[in-house]
Amino acid sequence: MRMPIRKHLMRLRGFSPGVAPSSIARLHANENPLGPSPLALQAIAEAAQSSHLYADSDGTQLKKKLSESLSLPAECILLGNGSDEIIHYLSLAVLENDSSIVVGDPGFVRYEAGAHLQNAKITRVALDDEDQHDLNAMADAIDENTRLIFIANPNNPTGTLVFREELNRFLTRIPETAIVVLDEAYYEFVESAQHPSAADYVRDGKPLVGLRTFSKSYGLAGLRIGYGLMPAELAEVINAIRQPFNTNNLAQAAAVAALEDEEHLRKSKELNRRSLKRIAAIVESHGAKARESHANFVWADFGRPVAALCQALFEQGVLVRSGEMFGKPNHIRISSGTEENMDRLERAFHAAHEALAS
Ligand SMILES: *Cc1c(COP(=O)(O)O)cnc(C)c1O
Repeated sequence: MRMPIRKHLMRLRGFSPGVAPSSIARLHANENPLGPSPLALQAIAEAAQSSHLYADSDGTQLKKKLSESLSLPAECILLGNGSDEIIHYLSLAVLENDSSIVVGDPGFVRYEAGAHLQNAKITRVALDDEDQHDLNAMADAIDENTRLIFIANPNNPTGTLVFREELNRFLTRIPETAIVVLDEAYYEFVESAQHPSAADYVRDGKPLVGLRTFSKSYGLAGLRIGYGLMPAELAEVINAIRQPFNTNNLAQAAAVAALEDEEHLRKSKELNRRSLKRIAAIVESHGAKARESHANFVWADFGRPVAALCQALFEQGVLVRSGEMFGKPNHIRISSGTEENMDRLERAFHAAHEALAS
């Protein structure tokens, strides 16, 4: 039987990030090891009482709060079922058959999914020797068919940052036919003073989209809520094509409360700072090079294939992300964690290395 499926979709295969048992140290998905803010948990419990009602399709309260803190009109803010969903809708709104996207390599895998869906082309531009976006090479790769240029800042999986001056220079090279997407999934963790903020560019009317999420620093990955900052004209179109109830009532309430809990965010960043140092020390004592990270994970180069090492770590109860899925089989990405999980990581590396050496 031949199903009437769009031809270019036939070669696609689903990707499942997998389910890990909770007994394992989850250092593979860049989650917040402290969990959600207690204020968010309380807001969820209260909002649960209204679960029989359709949520506010406009997310009025959350958008108002974001609008105030970012000094951006609410019309420039789009809520999504995670920022992944905003990438999806951006692709639907902007990409078509003969268009293309430009992405850094290695980079976040969801950008390519949107291009596949629209049968658009993908131009991958290798990161430079420092694992940073090579903005000159990316600008050279843009042509008249390029519609979206994705820059994760900090980059996933490398944790590297594009600085404000570099970005400004890059933006002068972008034609009017293209939009730069600055994916700021790890924005809250960045401490550099040279860190650009997508909100500033959108406020200035630049053709740029910013993506942020409550999944990482705010610890709400399971609830699925993120937001995009963009010119009102683009937000209006996506609002017209999106599912009206793409963000649910629990997620909206939790996000509002999470924004109010500055103490939880401070603690999360503090733990992250310590944890990043610890991860770097552990992998370096086992012969790897750790890239300095501006996010909540460390990208480590072991200089040889890591598949057996990742398996051995897993058998020790520690789950990390092999670089394999990013086309980098010599690398491992390790998320920050609690002190306890950092101890487990250290012991697991020890045991795994002994096992691999014997
Ligand atoms: C985690 C992540 C996201 C998506 O997060 P959501 O859970 O969909 O909000 C987007 N971009 C990058 C680079 C990420 O690492």
